[in-house]
Amino acid sequence: YFIPPEQMTESEAVVTGDDAHHIANVMRARIGDSIIVSDGASREALAAISDIGKNRVVASIAEMLPMSAEPAIRVTIAQSLPKGDKMETIIQKGTEIGAVRFIPFISERTVVQYDAKKESKRLERWAKIAKEAAEQAHRNRVPAVESPLKWNELLQSVGKADAAFFCYEKEAGTMLKQELRRAIASRGGTEGMNVLLIVGPEGGFSEREASEAEAVGCVPVLLGARILRTETAGMVGLTCMLYEAGEMG
Ligand code: SAM
Repeated sequence: YFIPPEQMTESEAVVTGDDAHHIANVMRARIGDSIIVSDGASREALAAISDIGKNRVVASIAEMLPMSAEPAIRVTIAQSLPKGDKMETIIQKGTEIGAVRFIPFISERTVVQYDAKKESKRLERWAKIAKEAAEQAHRNRVPAVESPLKWNELLQSVGKADAAFFCYEKEAGTMLKQELRRAIASRGGTEGMNVLLIVGPEGGFSEREASEAEAVGCVPVLLGARILRTETAGMVGLTCMLYEAGEMG
């Protein structure tokens, strides 16, 4: 269970809200049962339940656990907001596979309109999906889901990454694998490497967007010779990068 850092001391963890309800009423846990708690950032522990109250479960820390479920390479998926509930699927599957952050964005051919005022509920739902998928995957951290950016705002974040790629099926360019190998070699390893992978909408990137992305150092990459759906492309790119970085056997 991911709990706010302030609810986790050296010796005790306090679980509240829906998670406490889940422990007490769904899992029907008893005093003495063990749970795994994490502050979602740097601490994860095995804890034995010492008190079960209304919407509050207290557990004493038995042992700190290694943060071994987090990949060394930290991949952010920037996804042009797709139609329907594909974004929910991308967040769920991307979390299971090992993405650390999701940035939805609006590009020229993004079909859906995004109205920040109306959509706060959707942002909450995305965050909940990321938390639940991280718990299910026994991850140590919950991936962040940012509020949607405009295309030029996204381009401004390219420089903060150690390597940035945009998935561009149009160009007979290089495969993601080669470009990632090159980036890892020039950086001298994957530990803590921040990589941004940008995926276009159902209608793809425009030529203008492709040249703007390249102009800020974002490298166009191929994900094979087949045209993938937008909700598939990010998953393929993420898996390919984690595999190439030795995170998957
Ligand atoms: N232009 C495509 C077409 O003609 O059907 C539509 C875009 S594709 C359905 C959605 C997005 O997935 C693209 O913008 C791209 O980012 C990514 N994508 C799909 N297949 C790809 C591939 N083989 N290599 C790189 N990116 C790919």
